[in-house]
Amino acid sequence: MTVPLTAMDSPARLAHREGMFPLPEPMRAALDAAAAAARQGEVPVGAAIVRKGAIVAVAANAPRTCHDPTAHAEMLAIREAARHLGRDRLEDCDLWVTLEPCAMCAGAIAHARIARLYYGASDPKGGAVEHGPRFFAQPTCHHRPEVYSGIGEAQAGELLRAFFRERRG
Ligand code: ZN
Repeated sequence: MTVPLTAMDSPARLAHREGMFPLPEPMRAALDAAAAAARQGEVPVGAAIVRKGAIVAVAANAPRTCHDPTAHAEMLAIREAARHLGRDRLEDCDLWVTLEPCAMCAGAIAHARIARLYYGASDPKGGAVEHGPRFFAQPTCHHRPEVYSGIGEAQAGELLRAFFRERRG
């Protein structure tokens, strides 16, 4: 799927202006995928990959549906983008995801040579970027994307809270 981006802007300015302006298209696509995951009974996390201003892959978290513990949104989006582009290195691509990536996904992001990582909500329990192993800060991590967090944080967090609220209720 390819969706042209209309208003790509510098990440710092996007973060600064968030709340006053609509979310960037890739984060909106990722949030839509997260909402779709929730409807399938999956933890609502979504991801999108952008290359040259166009979305080349969108994926929803689907480990239950796929019977695959590695089927996190980021993994599925990276696989789809790599297949679409016909190569294993995505150094000209950015990954947008609604939740701070886990250690597995952070590893995949490094292996894929993703240029920039944008994520919405922080995940103190399972995140591996600003929490836990802080994967990209380790000397054994050989590729560090630029990281921008907090874009779409409120929407991503609310999807997760609603999902777990419903399951408890
Ligand atoms: Zn993950």
